[in-house]
Amino acid sequence: MRVVGKGAFGKVFQVRQKGDVEGDGIFAMKVMRKDTIIKKKHVDYMKAERDILTKVVHPFIVQLRYSFQTKSKLYLILDFVNGGHLFFHLYRQGIFSEDQARFYTAEIVSAVSHLHTCGIVHRDLKPENILVDVDGHVMLTDFGLAKEIDESSRSNSMCGTTEYMAPEILQSKGHNKDADWWSIGILLYEMLTGQPPFTHPSRQKLQQRIIQEKIKLPPFLSTEAHSLLKGLLQKEPSRRLGSGPSDGDEIKKHKWFQSINWKKLEAREIQPKFKPDVNGKECIANFDKCWTTMPADDSPASTPTAGEHFQGYTYVAPNPWLSSK
Ligand code: ADP
Ligand code: MG
Repeated sequence: MRVVGKGAFGKVFQVRQKGDVEGDGIFAMKVMRKDTIIKKKHVDYMKAERDILTKVVHPFIVQLRYSFQTKSKLYLILDFVNGGHLFFHLYRQGIFSEDQARFYTAEIVSAVSHLHTCGIVHRDLKPENILVDVDGHVMLTDFGLAKEIDESSRSNSMCGTTEYMAPEILQSKGHNKDADWWSIGILLYEMLTGQPPFTHPSRQKLQQRIIQEKIKLPPFLSTEAHSLLKGLLQKEPSRRLGSGPSDGDEIKKHKWFQSINWKKLEAREIQPKFKPDVNGKECIANFDKCWTTMPADDSPASTPTAGEHFQGYTYVAPNPWLSSK
């Protein structure tokens, strides 16, 4: 139907399934060119994204319905999430109250804890990849950089957007699930203050700040918020909150989250205070016009010649009409 977004690898369309009459057949279709993926040596990531999405079912993680390929491209058919980017609403409001930020951060922590339990590190937690659904709940997308890890292995590749990257990633020290908790600390700081804690126009200086600079916490935040931010934004990963064997549980038990009933939260029973303006499944009002006014062409791409890079990519979810929510 139309383009709704674009990232480093994928162009994302709003699409309608053939034969759909009641409007339940609206999906997001992420299209990735095989030649670009091969050129950038990202074949493994794209396979990982598809594998992760078929494996993970969680109330705050976007659900994969189908995947398929043509000679030149890979296609993921995902639930269409049309409440907009969480940070689009943040920037419009300026900052979130601690209560608001607590709700969103709790849903993100819940999703990331689940990923870690499945042996997956997201590695690219940043505003672009956090959407809000029609009810106002958080939805994580984009597992293009996520990687399945076994407990002991550490990943050494550089990825993500600098502002949200953990010091150990910038220093190529190898990183693991603790890097996700750092990113969540940055996101929380930004929700509460309107800006990430470390910024600089030069990438190199920015990296230096993340690695060396002491975090400054504004006095208007509660002592509990200070304590959580200090825990998550601990530069030494082995001392970071969440680095212990109980992983996300350590964070869920922090006193800033005391008022959160995690069982209810994970059953989607905590009503979001803010409900985005969405007029039905087809509504695209919360997407940037720079995308939605683009011609909805799935433009032809050259077919890579070499080998069987993407064998077994095709997938059909067990029941495409029964949502997991
Ligand atoms: P990339 O891997 O190239 O970064 P993403 O998966 O992040 O691609 O998708 C790019 C953009 O498309 C996102 O920032 C978001 O705006 C939009 N998008 C992605 N998935 C969905 C979805 N399921 N529903 C609605 N919009 C989506
Ligand atoms: Mg992205």
